[in-house]
Amino acid sequence: MNIHEYQAKQLLAGFGVAVPRGGVAYTPPEAESVAKDLGGPIWVVKSQIHAGGRGAGRFANNPDGAGGVRVVKSIDEVKESVSDMLGHVLVTKQTGTAGKEVKRVYIEEGCDIARELYLGILIDRPTSRITVMASTEGGMEIEEVAHNTPEKIITIPIDPVTGLQPHHGRRIAFALGLEGKQIGAAVKFLAAMYKAFIELDASMVEVNPLVITGAGEVIALDAKMNFDDNALFRHADVEEMRDEDEEDPAELEAAKHELNYVKLDGQIGCMVNGAGLAMATDRKSVV
Ligand code: ADP
Ligand code: MG
Repeated sequence: MNIHEYQAKQLLAGFGVAVPRGGVAYTPPEAESVAKDLGGPIWVVKSQIHAGGRGAGRFANNPDGAGGVRVVKSIDEVKESVSDMLGHVLVTKQTGTAGKEVKRVYIEEGCDIARELYLGILIDRPTSRITVMASTEGGMEIEEVAHNTPEKIITIPIDPVTGLQPHHGRRIAFALGLEGKQIGAAVKFLAAMYKAFIELDASMVEVNPLVITGAGEVIALDAKMNFDDNALFRHADVEEMRDEDEEDPAELEAAKHELNYVKLDGQIGCMVNGAGLAMATDRKSVV
């Protein structure tokens, strides 16, 4: 299961991960009141959809206009951006050409960015290890970095018996070129992120970008989390964050009947009596 950026930030903050202040809004008046509470002088209005690349994405009704993440300097501009976003379809590299309708926005305080980095924790299937990935190339899709400049990614597999250790955090901090108090902050940040990953039965936590501020703080400016569906029964608070608008209607219907159903492109289906067999039987061999 996936959740929105603001929900991921809320969960991560509960484990001690540093995030900017912000609030979600479903309507322009709600957004105005969140923006007033935050106080400015800089706000960031962020479309909430289950897809990345929002900053560089464009709205289908205004392809030459601004993207799905906007930095603004007045309450009027907050209101304007929110009404440009709510109810409109945002197309990003990750949504496909159909795009996704924005139904909620997140209003966040503006952050003074000195550096944009990448930090992720995922399950690496070939090594059967939870793995920490970091890169100096923050803000870019990690798949792209892996393809074009793999030497800019540091990968650390974590031994499940000993778990994440402070030396892992220090290795990451040095690889990212952090200095002084940033090192301790990054070690603490990673430890909090790892704790969230383990305790919430996540399958992926990605902070892209992880930001070093002008004042040297280490902050999550974006956050994405995926969860292991088989463990959701242990996490009612996470399950409550499910946004059915973001899910495929056929998959939702199948889940209600406890059927394993994965929507794919094309017109040929594959019906088998085991997940392993299903994975091994790709569409070409069905044909
Ligand atoms: P996406 O990855 O979907 O494009 P992000 O949340 O990563 O969305 O935002 C895109 C970019 O917008 C970030 O790389 C960052 O440069 C900028 N940005 C996002 N949030 C803030 C913020 N609170 N303050 C300043 N800039 C921000
Ligand atoms: Mg991002």
